[in-house]
Amino acid sequence: MYTFIPGPSQVYPSVRQYLAAAYDEGWLSAPHRGDRFTALVRQTVGELKARLNIPQDYFIFFTSSATECWEVLAQSLTKQRSFHLHNGSFGEKWLDYAQAVHPASTGHQFGLDEVPDPALIPDDADVVCITQNETSTATQLRDGAVLNIYNRCQQTGALLAVDVTSSLGGIQLKHIKADVWFASVQKCFGMPAGLGLLICSPRAIARAKEINDRAHYNSLLAMHEKMLNHQTTHTPNVLAIYLLCRVLLDRAPIKAIDQHLRERAAKLYQFFEEHSPFTPLVQNPETRSTTVIGLQGQPARIEEVKRRAAAVGLTLGGGYGPWAKTTIRIANFPALPDVAYDQLMQFFTAE
Ligand SMILES: *Cc1c(COP(=O)(O)O)cnc(C)c1O
Repeated sequence: MYTFIPGPSQVYPSVRQYLAAAYDEGWLSAPHRGDRFTALVRQTVGELKARLNIPQDYFIFFTSSATECWEVLAQSLTKQRSFHLHNGSFGEKWLDYAQAVHPASTGHQFGLDEVPDPALIPDDADVVCITQNETSTATQLRDGAVLNIYNRCQQTGALLAVDVTSSLGGIQLKHIKADVWFASVQKCFGMPAGLGLLICSPRAIARAKEINDRAHYNSLLAMHEKMLNHQTTHTPNVLAIYLLCRVLLDRAPIKAIDQHLRERAAKLYQFFEEHSPFTPLVQNPETRSTTVIGLQGQPARIEEVKRRAAAVGLTLGGGYGPWAKTTIRIANFPALPDVAYDQLMQFFTAE
């Protein structure tokens, strides 16, 4: 049985053992102001930095979800308005949340096969928001595209915030080339949902100090002050932090994971172009996601193939938002073994 749904996604089989270990080791009742917990946070943050190549001077915070990160950025890092380049449901939702806090926030929608033009970024945006891997449309912004946007932000003085919910932990990212990165753990980390990661540059923290938002329980400044002592503002999801630490300790360096996923993605795209009644949703190879493969087809055929795949123990991801009925999404996440994709390709060959 494999699930290819791009979130909540297949968890590492080792999670079963780590859940039992968390119970046995007393983590489920561990005080979140105690030395044991703060040591766990210190270790987890250290492992995240080491395994994902996050610069030492960046700060890592725990939130409940990526959605919470959207709101924190609007509350704590935006003075007047943010500007959003979006090409799918998650990027749009982010803009909705930002507008609810700062109505002057605006966005620009670009196509699935398009790379957005940094010249679109207005001079007066406080934060520029991009979704590096748009899970709903199976698209991705490559390093070069993010770098061009970052360079434009350097000209205007905006912070660059990047939603990497379905790519952090799966592909190697140039963290130095943006101020804020965030994700949740139920995608590329192979874990159950309930924990978000918010990664901030020293520049982002300086901005938070300047804005001095203290109106919210999850104000970034409050999180930062607590995290200086490896603590959180509220009682956090200690179990998830423990699981994250254990899962990270088992992992290969991100460079190796990245290489593996890229090779597997190339193989999958080639397979679906050549052998299947379903074709890749994204035409431009340069904007295709590495970690989420989108396929399109007739709604009736999609419905049928999802049913038939489920019957042989392969759960395919459905489409999302406007693409709900005409697309299938297949996660290419680290917790799924190669043998799962061999079975998947065998299944599609027979279709
Ligand atoms: C899944 C996802 C989210 C939402 O994550 P939550 O943990 O549910 O808040 C946000 N952005 C992207 C790109 C996603 O894939």
